[in-house]
Amino acid sequence: MNLQRELKERFGYSSFREGQEEIIHSVLNRKDTVAMLPTGTGKSLCYQLPGYLMDGHVLIISPLLSLMQDQVEQMKVMGEKRVIALNSFLPYMERREALERLHEYKFIFISPEMLMNRGVISSLQSLDISLYVIDEAHCISQWGPDFRPDYLKLGELKELLRNPTTLALTATATKEVREDIKQVLQMNHAVEMVYSVDRGNIGLFVKRVSGQNEKLNTLLECVRAWGGPGVVYFSSKRMAEEVALWLSEKGVSGVAHYHGGMEQEERILIQQQFLSGKLRMICATSAFGMGVNKENIRFVIHFHFPSSIEAFLQEIGRAGRDGESSISVVLYSEQDLSLPLQLIESELPEDVQIRGFIDKSRKGQSKELIEQLQLTEVQYRFLTYYTDELTRGMPFDQDRLLEKVKQIRDNRLQYKKEKLYSMINWLQAVTCRREKLLHYFNENMNVDHPFCCDICGDLLDDFKTKPFALNAQDSGDINWEKRLENLLLG
Ligand code: ADP
Repeated sequence: MNLQRELKERFGYSSFREGQEEIIHSVLNRKDTVAMLPTGTGKSLCYQLPGYLMDGHVLIISPLLSLMQDQVEQMKVMGEKRVIALNSFLPYMERREALERLHEYKFIFISPEMLMNRGVISSLQSLDISLYVIDEAHCISQWGPDFRPDYLKLGELKELLRNPTTLALTATATKEVREDIKQVLQMNHAVEMVYSVDRGNIGLFVKRVSGQNEKLNTLLECVRAWGGPGVVYFSSKRMAEEVALWLSEKGVSGVAHYHGGMEQEERILIQQQFLSGKLRMICATSAFGMGVNKENIRFVIHFHFPSSIEAFLQEIGRAGRDGESSISVVLYSEQDLSLPLQLIESELPEDVQIRGFIDKSRKGQSKELIEQLQLTEVQYRFLTYYTDELTRGMPFDQDRLLEKVKQIRDNRLQYKKEKLYSMINWLQAVTCRREKLLHYFNENMNVDHPFCCDICGDLLDDFKTKPFALNAQDSGDINWEKRLENLLLG
């Protein structure tokens, strides 16, 4: 089979990007495959092309509604009509109709929680699913970024679907997480195809600041100089809103905020305006990004740093998808250190909440429980999942259950803290940042980058293709660090 020709004819691309062809071959040879490709390099092609060449249907499990919607729209734009997204957005009647006509769709996208519905499973069982794809598979891991018990059931589902060839796709999974993925998905003989997480066209910069004021001023200088398109990440919704407003007041045009607390329509609108170039900059929480396929994002600035290197890499990976030079800047002050720790701790239930949950869950309604114990959604999911798991087929012993759940909570907390410390360690690095980033994923740095990081400042002299509207007098040979400093000093 001539894969190059298929690529050209079906997608109009003249060559594969690194890793794509090998992954596609593996899938076409019916091998279960765990594939890790850097963000933005084209993971979708790895199931779309084989999908066309295999009989049967392709089932794609996609973690985020916006991501799924986006992928389906893109396929439709490419002329594929036999594609559908089954998620909670689909009104009941339409969903029913879609389930009846499921055999007409070649590509079926579905959210994990939909797969907990028996009707959906039995409709899927009546189909010949030849390829089972798990997108953003790092979410599967029990250590995934957010606790998603429905993801842990994907292995059982695979069996119910008569073990189709399985492809797990991710951009950021350490070895440990990849092992977890294989275990959950029961991929006993899976082939692992791991490609470098390095995004050589993104310069990595950490700017230490003394506090909030300097941080804001630095941000303002950067966005004034670079214009956009860019994304600024915050760990608080309120700050994202306030800073977006503040930047507008300072005369920066085309700025908006985006976070999970906004209405769905509003979020879609902002995203569309950013994609079409009407907005130049988004001040966002981590809710923004997955599925945002904008090629020319020139900078990603972290006003607050994320709580793991994996999350950081995902977020900066949204820059420079067109291959042009782009930059990541973390604005970092010592005062920022306590916030992520508090966030991590608040994600998990406290002792009294665990006790209250175990005490009441056998009698109470979930809604009342959530209110009484002031549980967040993640805390509730965590408690429901583990109390169910630990009591399944066992005589109920309240004290034992309490101890077990606390122990799981403590392990998870410890794990998250270690992730956070790796991130902080990276921010405080004194040797090449890129090398450290790669090292975290057990990779060595084999390629020299002309545009590397603030610590390799001398190499950044060669930063020739200036992506940003730098001042005319900045054009010469001064080094990058100086250039940035000049910029910041105005
Ligand atoms: P991700 O790896 O983040 O899931 P996507 O699958 O969304 O990335 O692809 C990112 C972009 O790269 C898309 O615009 C896609 O059309 C483009 N792309 C994918 N493969 C190729 C290729 N072989 N040649 C050129 N462009 C490609």
